[in-house]
Parts: sequence; C-alpha cells; structure tokens
Amino acid sequence: MSFESLGLSHHIIKSVRKLGFLKPFPIQEQTVPVILSGKDLMGIAQTGSGKTACFVMPILEKLQNEDVKKDRNIQVLVLAPTRELVIQIDEVFRAFTENLKREIRTMAVYGGVSINPQMKGMFGVEVLVATPGRLLDLIEHKALSISKISHLVIDEADKMFQLGFEEEMNKLIAMMPSKKQTVLFSATLNDKVQEIKKRLTINPVLVEIKAEEVDLDKITQLAYHVTEERKGPFLRYLLKEKNIRQALVFTSSTRSADNLAEKLKKNKIPATAVHGKKSQGSRSGNLRGFKEGET
Ligand code: AMP
Repeated sequence: MSFESLGLSHHIIKSVRKLGFLKPFPIQEQTVPVILSGKDLMGIAQTGSGKTACFVMPILEKLQNEDVKKDRNIQVLVLAPTRELVIQIDEVFRAFTENLKREIRTMAVYGGVSINPQMKGMFGVEVLVATPGRLLDLIEHKALSISKISHLVIDEADKMFQLGFEEEMNKLIAMMPSKKQTVLFSATLNDKVQEIKKRLTINPVLVEIKAEEVDLDKITQLAYHVTEERKGPFLRYLLKEKNIRQALVFTSSTRSADNLAEKLKKNKIPATAVHGKKSQGSRSGNLRGFKEGET
C-alpha cells in the first residue's frame, strides 16, 4: 500500500518523502483513512509503532483546506503526558507543515519552563500540543481557548492516568465543545481508558497493533555480581574494554546518576545525567547529545 492510496495529497506526501518513509506502517494504513473520514478512533499502540504520523498526516491534510483563523481559539488540541512526548509530537507536526497549501502554526507547551513566552506566542496558533497542567495554567491566564476545537487527540491515554492527570483532564474536557473529532491512543485498554473512551468518543473505530515480538536472538543478556565499591570502576572497565560505543545506564536515584556521570567524565568517557530534577533545557540538550552520538 502507498501513502497516496490512503487519501493523502501531494502536500503531505512531499514531507513523507523528505522524512524518508517508503511505505505506510500497518497502523498508518488502518488509521489514516478513518481519521480522514471524520470518524472517532481508539488506537491501541505503543511508542515506536508510528502512531504520531497516524494523526498528524490526516489532521493537517484536512486543516490545510480550512480558512485561516487568526485568534486565540485552538483548532487542534493534542494532549500528551510528558514534556518529551509533547516536544516529539510537535516536531512531527512541524515536519509535515512545511509543504502545505497554507501556513499552519503549531506550538508545544509544557511545564517546567517560563509561561510568558508561551502566552505571547499563542496568537494565531491552530495546532497546540500540550501537557494538561500547563494547558490549564495558560487557559486560566486567558492565553487561549479550547472551546472551539474541531479535533482532539489524547496520546498515551493510559500514561495520563498513571501520572495522575485525571483531575486536569476532567477540567479540560469540561471546556471542550461536544462536537469534535476525537482520537485516542493508548498502549493498553484498561478501565480508565475505557471510561474516557466512552465519555469522549462516538462509535469509535478500534485499531489495535500488537507490539512486535522482541527478537531475543539479537539481545545478549549478561549479569555481573560486583560489590558496591567496585561497581563504578567495573562499569568503566566494561565500557572501555568491550569498546561499547554508547550505553544507557540506569541508577536508583538522581544523585547517583549525577555522581556516576561525573566519575565517567573524569575518566574521559563523555557522559551526562538525565533526570527529573534537571531543567527542561538541560534535559533536552543532554538527550540531543546522546541522540547525536556525542555522549
Ligand atoms: P512513533 O511511534 O510515532 O514515535 O514513530 C516511531 C518512529 O517511526 C519515528 O522515528 C518515525 O519517524 C518513524 N516512522 C513513522 N512512520 C514511518 C514510516 N511509514 N516509515 C518509516 N519510518 C516511520
């Protein structure tokens, strides 16, 4: 199947090519036509399945044919549980807005950074990707309104509940119009997700993509039994002797993450710590360094 056969125009396909996508992933084949048709959707899929493009492509396809609205009413609202996910989703929207019929402004908002630039930048934004808490703050500051949205996407709905966003979600839902297209994505369909699905969607099409079986043959698992004081030196030995180009190391506390990164750096191993006590700016920078292979 091709992207064209899903009902996407060359405006979107041009970005698809630029991103290097050769053909749609199974979840995209199943969801893009549904969203284009205007029906509600409940997708069961994990991160890595290609679910972001599932809603980004058809929503922009439709939005580009609508008139520009220059005010503080958001058209498309995407809610996601973490800052990292919000940033990732916004990046995908930006990649797909490059070749549209008209300019569509998107914005990512999340907590942990100053609210002022987000307030100032809101005028004329049509697609907003947000974490629930910061979105509520912005609405209280009258920076925007979600009372006229035409599309709602809730990504990683199960994680929203796990992270305790239920109250914020309820407040936000009360501010939305009842007539809108709703797309929900979740890794699991637990009771809470079922409940929100029932509340928000009308006869949703259910699409489920099973997580691919992990190919265990490609993974070598090893355990080393070492004493507490030998852990650090042993890790450095492993990284150097086994010529490990990149490694992700999990620690039990933010302090030990910081200490470990410092020790590694002292031993000329470019390392960085990422955890919830760091500012968003430094977390993003550190993750970028890791992705680009500097760390
Ligand atoms: P997601 O689950 O949305 O985070 O996507 C996982 C990864 O798959 C991202 O790096 C996407 O850029 C990539 N991806 C999404 N759709 C396709 C596709 N049709 N072909 C190749 N890569 C894709």
